[in-house]
Amino acid sequence: MGIWQKEIITVLLLFTAVAIVGGLTGLFIPLLFILMLAIIMRQVVHISRFEKWISTGGRGKYPKTTGVWEEIYYHVYRIKKEEKRRKKKLSKMIDQFRQSTEALPDAAVVLGIHDEIDWANKAAREVFGLQASDKGQRIPNLIRYPDFIRYLKSGNYKESVILPSPVDHRMSLEVRIVPYGAGLRLLLAQDVTQLKKMERMRKDFVANVSHELRTPLTVLKGYLETLQDLDDGHSPLLTNSFLQMQGQTERMQHLVDDLLLLTRLETQQKKSHCVDVPALLSQICQEGDSLENESRRIELSLETNAHLIGDEQELRSAFTNLLGNALKYSPDDSVVKVRWQQSPKSIILAIEDQGEGIAKADIPRVTERFYRVETKRVKKVNGTGLGLAIVKHVLMRHDGHLDIRSELGKGSCFSCYFPMSRWCDENTTMVN
Ligand code: ADP
Repeated sequence: MGIWQKEIITVLLLFTAVAIVGGLTGLFIPLLFILMLAIIMRQVVHISRFEKWISTGGRGKYPKTTGVWEEIYYHVYRIKKEEKRRKKKLSKMIDQFRQSTEALPDAAVVLGIHDEIDWANKAAREVFGLQASDKGQRIPNLIRYPDFIRYLKSGNYKESVILPSPVDHRMSLEVRIVPYGAGLRLLLAQDVTQLKKMERMRKDFVANVSHELRTPLTVLKGYLETLQDLDDGHSPLLTNSFLQMQGQTERMQHLVDDLLLLTRLETQQKKSHCVDVPALLSQICQEGDSLENESRRIELSLETNAHLIGDEQELRSAFTNLLGNALKYSPDDSVVKVRWQQSPKSIILAIEDQGEGIAKADIPRVTERFYRVETKRVKKVNGTGLGLAIVKHVLMRHDGHLDIRSELGKGSCFSCYFPMSRWCDENTTMVN
């Protein structure tokens, strides 16, 4: 028999007893009243005992009782026990998670919605110099580098940012923010000191070697020119050898110049002026035209008079490389179109040729250093494979990017996109 059925039967039996005794004695109403009062009082006592037990957290075994109330006590007790077990398991899991993140070699900091520190692991405390009392403090008050604050505020966490450690400035940290949950973020930092050191060594090595090669090359070139002047043309082998040597020294000089320019782009501070790009393009196109022996084949259209905030020398190198490529990799009788345009979001330089084009698979690779597409014609065209790497770097330094569209056999269009924040005109006054 179920517990509720038992309870109902007991109440019904009591009512029947009251009805019989009440009928015999003629005291039905007072007896009924007494019975109902007794039932209510019994429930009030149970409720009060239950309230007392639950208000102390339902700790320990529940008070001894019978019937439905025993059942209620048992269920609550069971739920509490289950909850306690789950809590224990969860706290064990959290402990394990904390221990593993504590042991991580990378720094990890959990940030709240107001950039406050919720939790930090051992590595984070070490590299950022955080202390237990910093919990709840806003991280921009503790890591005050402008680059970091800009990155934190930007909300764009696709890229990482490199910072010196606030406790040891010789240590370089690569900091990345990973958003998760509702407005929460995980800040991760990795020690990249060794990597940065090696990168610096590579840059120094390339810069030193290129610089040291300059003098012997100039000497070689000078002697070659003298020897060529002395050549009376009687020996075709000698004449041809001189020509070959001259071609190779020139090639080497271009290589050294390009490497030095790339090093400068990687290491030098940016200089910014308002550059008159339309005038610059007119000059570059004129120079390009004068290099072409037979015809003028560059079509320049200046659709905007927009100037750019940037470095004129760097922009000249980038634009010259792009125009040089368009002329180099297209037939002598084809047209190269140079357009300076403006859209609501960008200022664009598009250089379009009707040349051989680039295969789809090669397009993402042509801006890599020393990458040259292996075609029959390219082998004949002189180049260092560094031109587009220079273009990419210059654009990066001007907050721009390069877009390459090309189709084999039809031609290519190289577009440089600059953001409107780089826009200026002849009336703009630059404050450095
Ligand atoms: P390079 O000195 O070889 O021209 P770049 O870095 O300027 O070096 O270009 C890399 C490669 O991209 C070139 O070797 C060439 O294969 C390809 N390329 C660049 N511009 C063009 C173009 N306008 N048309 C076809 N191929 C091009």
